[in-house]
Amino acid sequence: MLNNLSFKKGFRFGSLFYLCAFSVALWGCNSDSSKMQIASAAIIVRADTLPVPQAAPAVLPETEPTEPQSFTVIGVGDMMLGTNYPSASYLPPNGGRNLLDEAREILKSADVTFGNLEGTILDKGGTPKRCNNPAACYVFRSPESYVQHFVDAGFDFLSVANNHSGDFGYEGRSRTKALLAEAGIAFAGLAGTNEYAIIERDGVKYGMAAFAPNSGTCSIHDLGKARAIVSKLDQECDIVIVSFHGGAEGASHQNVPRHSETYFGENRGDVYKFSHAVVDAGADIVFGQGPHVTRAMELYKDRLICYSLGNFCTYGRFSLSGPAGFAPIVAVRVDKQGAFLGGEVTPIYQQKAHGPKIDAQKRATLKLIELTQADFPETPLEITKEGKLLKKG
Ligand SMILES: [Zn+2]
Repeated sequence: MLNNLSFKKGFRFGSLFYLCAFSVALWGCNSDSSKMQIASAAIIVRADTLPVPQAAPAVLPETEPTEPQSFTVIGVGDMMLGTNYPSASYLPPNGGRNLLDEAREILKSADVTFGNLEGTILDKGGTPKRCNNPAACYVFRSPESYVQHFVDAGFDFLSVANNHSGDFGYEGRSRTKALLAEAGIAFAGLAGTNEYAIIERDGVKYGMAAFAPNSGTCSIHDLGKARAIVSKLDQECDIVIVSFHGGAEGASHQNVPRHSETYFGENRGDVYKFSHAVVDAGADIVFGQGPHVTRAMELYKDRLICYSLGNFCTYGRFSLSGPAGFAPIVAVRVDKQGAFLGGEVTPIYQQKAHGPKIDAQKRATLKLIELTQADFPETPLEITKEGKLLKKG
């Protein structure tokens, strides 16, 4: 079977990671400084030392089924594994080592795993973001040792385009970037410096770009520049993943409106228009998050759009009440051009005392079915109660 040629992360023991970062001239993404004309993007390539699988025989036995080669990409939503600011009392027990216990093997089962890093990673220092109301000020700084939790869970790509990656100023951003690079985790979403990332797995090139409405991030509002970044990735890569952090938050904003959303006076983007624009430009999978609740999915031009993956692992200072307490892990199977072949949803839930656990009540799956039927009745995507994602017809 051709499928057997692509090793999953679970079998990558003894892998040697190497990392080469180089600059690539690119159109300036929407930098707040607006001075940046030429931007550079770090490109990280990770390779295994496992022997390269032998090429398939030129002629397959007649009994061999001729299934298309498929690749599995997993996406999860917001992640903040605990903050040492304003005090270490907001950190989980055992250095956070057990937070991802129930999800780890699932996350590692994909060819490529993605999530949104909703915060900064540094032990101390940085300039905490000033808030108008200090009592309701949430800024996140996770201990540096926590990078290993993302490595152990098999994360390949993290988005840093969100409203918390700038929580500790320049120092917070640069330390977070250095730690991720050192750990071999590719990241993207910062205007002018790290707009996209490219990795290679088993001979397949994956590109990722990330967008948000927040200062210093690649703008979700500038569709022209978003299209330019994505179409460049489309030319260079086999499979292109786009993340956005947008849309209004909370239980009363679970439906996808087909217009811009304003929340607390901030324009959080038109996530429908944005998602269609990036797919038109070459994106194969769109992973949205930001509303902190689950939103619908859509199959558009044979590409899967997840409008919000909710709170995946948000320890301590996040509300987990009602629909903020459950979320999907989405595994998408695509062909080498990135077209949708199928997928699976694993529903998880969180409570204050623990990270994601498998939800026997399947609340995220049932919510996805309900929301997708309500918001995208025309989409050819079927979500079963067992969590299977299928193309209708
Ligand atoms: Zn956010």
